[in-house]
Amino acid sequence: MSHLSIRKVAVLGAGVMGSQIAAHLINAKVPVILFDLPAQQGPKNSIAQKAIEHLRKLNPAPLGVSHDASYIEPANYEDDLAKLNECDLVIEAIAERIDWKHDLYKKVAPAIRHDAIFVSNTSGLSINTLAEGLDAELKFRFCGVHFFNPPRYMHLVELIPAQQTRAGILDGLESFLTSTLGKGVIRAKDTPNFIANRVGVFSVLATIKEAEKFELGFDLVDDLTGRRLGRAKSATFRTADVVGLDTVSHVIKTMRDNLLDDPFFPIYNEPPVLSALVAQGALGQKSGAGFYKKEGKLIKVLDAKQGAYIASGARADALVERILKRPPAERFKLLHESTHPQARFLWAIFRNVFHYSAVHLEHIADNARDLDFAVRWGFGWNEGPFESWQAAGWRQLAEWVQADIDAGAALSKAPLPAWALDGLVAEQGGVHNAAGSWSPKARTFVPRSALAVYTKQVFRAPLNGEVAADPRTAGKTLHENEAVRIWVDARAGQDDVAIVSFKSKMNTIGPAVLDGIVQAIELAEQNHRGLVVWQPSALQAGPFSAGANLEGLVPSLMAGGAKKVEPFVAQFQQTMQRVKYAAVPVVPAIAGIALGGGCELVMHGAKRVAYFESYIGLVEAGVGLLPAGGGLKEGALRAAETARCLGQRNLLEFLVKPFENIARAKVSSSALEAIEFGYLLPSDTIVFNLHELLATALSEARALANAGWRAPLPVHAIAVAGRAGIATIKAQLVNLRDGGFISVHDFLISSKIAEVLCGGEVEMGSLVDEAWLLKLERAAFVELLDMKKTQERIIGMLQTGKPVRN
Ligand code: NAD
Repeated sequence: MSHLSIRKVAVLGAGVMGSQIAAHLINAKVPVILFDLPAQQGPKNSIAQKAIEHLRKLNPAPLGVSHDASYIEPANYEDDLAKLNECDLVIEAIAERIDWKHDLYKKVAPAIRHDAIFVSNTSGLSINTLAEGLDAELKFRFCGVHFFNPPRYMHLVELIPAQQTRAGILDGLESFLTSTLGKGVIRAKDTPNFIANRVGVFSVLATIKEAEKFELGFDLVDDLTGRRLGRAKSATFRTADVVGLDTVSHVIKTMRDNLLDDPFFPIYNEPPVLSALVAQGALGQKSGAGFYKKEGKLIKVLDAKQGAYIASGARADALVERILKRPPAERFKLLHESTHPQARFLWAIFRNVFHYSAVHLEHIADNARDLDFAVRWGFGWNEGPFESWQAAGWRQLAEWVQADIDAGAALSKAPLPAWALDGLVAEQGGVHNAAGSWSPKARTFVPRSALAVYTKQVFRAPLNGEVAADPRTAGKTLHENEAVRIWVDARAGQDDVAIVSFKSKMNTIGPAVLDGIVQAIELAEQNHRGLVVWQPSALQAGPFSAGANLEGLVPSLMAGGAKKVEPFVAQFQQTMQRVKYAAVPVVPAIAGIALGGGCELVMHGAKRVAYFESYIGLVEAGVGLLPAGGGLKEGALRAAETARCLGQRNLLEFLVKPFENIARAKVSSSALEAIEFGYLLPSDTIVFNLHELLATALSEARALANAGWRAPLPVHAIAVAGRAGIATIKAQLVNLRDGGFISVHDFLISSKIAEVLCGGEVEMGSLVDEAWLLKLERAAFVELLDMKKTQERIIGMLQTGKPVRN
């Protein structure tokens, strides 16, 4: 049963996790009821209701658009238990107390439908012990589903079967979590804290221990263990402050209480520095102090010896900085040999995690891939422990780790398991290879899951050491140059739709990329049924395109002024028209940013497929320009069409929103918000899993072709707002300028945007064609480009990546 029909979900517990899980279900268009205890005073649903209201303000936003909070239905256990009967899935996310959870299970179990699935989001309690609170029949339909905080953004979900969970239920849930919610699902065993927190929290404890030993400050340790190691910028101690030191303490306690036989048991003692902070109520970010403390604008760091906060900002030594930039084998050799305390510290923390992961792999996970992915997706590391070990030379590192264990330098005397030193793993140079990943129990390399949901993934999440197709060279190349690759997915039945991928930095669009798009359309029109624009960088969440290549414009601008740039603008416009009127459907597949020219390309497609985390906007005003690749033209056209369909004559009403979005260079915070901005359409497809983006775009293009797709007829009669519209918008702009809310240059740019969007100095309601609007765009663009203040904005952006306000 890998297909599970989940029409409605109940979430029990409207705390940090429950409310945000409910929000993400709503993002994915899954109706949800959010339960909490009945309030003692006031309306009984007020606890759940308050949590729903709070979702609108949370940062980072759990909802794609905040007003969708209203779709979450509040409920309480006193009045609403009967509503559980409507739900196919019930997710328990109440406080981490087994007695409270068991009490609740008794209360809700009779109301759960006989075929519904019941899961717990516990982060560390035993799933089998939780299952003991259920009757025999519900036990078959119960398991752990462990989301990470914040659930919209953290990719990992651990799926933990209890002894009696039916296998089909796990397959069904894995498919739902992967495809509908976009998660990376890892099956974990029912061991304390499961996989990611087990290894991740050990890593934090071991880091604290080694930092003490080598006498390194917390800020220095964060500098050494964050970005430089390919991990989250908040590294070790800042992450602990964000999570909450009481929570960290709780997770450590779970390990201490439940892992008495663990050879690393002594390390599960709470570090005294952590106990002291918690005792003082310094719980991290939420209480204003933890390992760090903000004083005014200064961020201070705790000096453990003095017990006082001192200036922070320590950085790695230049020597260590250089070592960390070397290729893996050399890097680890240098770290291992060096006598520099920072290098010895780094070797020690790597050795500890390698040692721990190898000793525990068999007990906590099915195979090495699951452990690596769990740590990567749960803690934001670029590579898992086994991947780092293997990349540096498996056998050599195994010998060094074992030598440290023998010398009593490691955190436990437990030897490395035999498989790490001899046999297949050592012979093959590591735990990952073309056959799969090492499973200590099966004593072989096991392949990836063959569950049907993964057939939607042309490229699966890559793993160092495993041989996987490179998305930059995969499939069959039809044409390639320095700007683009035009290719097909060569698998049977998939090569009927062509794909174009850009090769420029941030996938920016210059003349050669525009030529490439035209060439791709020509090829697709001859031999294929559609064309998809997809970037290999989509697999790392984007960018789709950072826009027109501004850097490429500078030489022409310097040599001959703005007029010299006009041919490029004209080429951009013609290419977008070619996209819109191609004889085959052109489908942009978007992930991450699609800005400026990138957004215009999106707007001209026949249909769009967008990853939920798509950040789309016409941002040209930020560099002193306006959209001149058909973005304003499309804005005017969509407004006119909407007004016509509604039988409205006052066009201006429909232009206000697009005007504001463009003049303020607004970027959507999700694909759903991009629909509200008018850059995506309600009929476009949103995908939640990055790895499904390409396959979905290919099938959408194919479906359009199958349904007899024809390009629209050239639009020749667009009603515009004309000079009356321009005058109304400008009157408001004058107020903003005179009130000091916008600069004189902002006023000028916004006025030009208004002029083009309103179709120029004509009577309201005049009919114009696309060429007219494109000509206005081009002329206004060139005019702005000639201005000193615009040029300052462009140069500033190119030099610093930040907008210049002038
Ligand atoms: P929380 O404290 O924010 O929320 C707990 C909710 O449980 C509250 O809404 C409270 O009203 C309700 N509750 C308390 N006692 C109850 C009772 N006796 N009966 C019914 N409801 C009760 O907690 P949270 O952080 O959302 O954690 C919820 C679950 O998710 C826990 O099992 C936790 O281990 C797990 N979890 C937490 C995180 C995290 O980072 N916070 C991450 C993954 C999993």
